[in-house]
Amino acid sequence: MKALPLVFPFLLAALPIAAHAEARQLGPHVHGQASVNIAVEASTMDVQVSLPGHDAVGFEHPPGTPAEQAAVDKATASLNAAAWLVPAPAADCTLALARVSPHGFGGATEAGGHADFDASYHFTCRRMDRLDQLDVRLASAFPSVAKVVVSLITAAGSSQQVLEGGVSHVGVPQ
Ligand SMILES: [Zn+2]
Repeated sequence: MKALPLVFPFLLAALPIAAHAEARQLGPHVHGQASVNIAVEASTMDVQVSLPGHDAVGFEHPPGTPAEQAAVDKATASLNAAAWLVPAPAADCTLALARVSPHGFGGATEAGGHADFDASYHFTCRRMDRLDQLDVRLASAFPSVAKVVVSLITAAGSSQQVLEGGVSHVGVPQ
């Protein structure tokens, strides 16, 4: 049994239709800054990321050359693999679903001329009680990222942590 019924409402928030309503925005579009929302509940962890195109591929317009298309494809694949996010190994988490949505690279540019990569992930963790930390390595995967704003919601409440200067460690309140 896959956890699809649980995932579905979460995915709705990431659909392009929602994007046009600006509902997908996790945080302000600031070059050099990525936003990560993490929600932990029972045995599941849902993660949403928004990354400016500027930091993912170095431009924010529809790819005009094979090299630019390759850059978009590479960033999409990199986000899809979710290697930038490493939950505490003891929590025994498995990536059940990943969805990456580039916005503003497909023809019509977005209002303001900006473009983003949005991604959402669904993890299942066998030992969620051991999820005491996460490693968020977005700045390693995308070196143009200087600041990562991580918002965390767990049974213990909500918190926000700002990662800068090579810091990737995020503590998870139990
Ligand atoms: Zn921009």
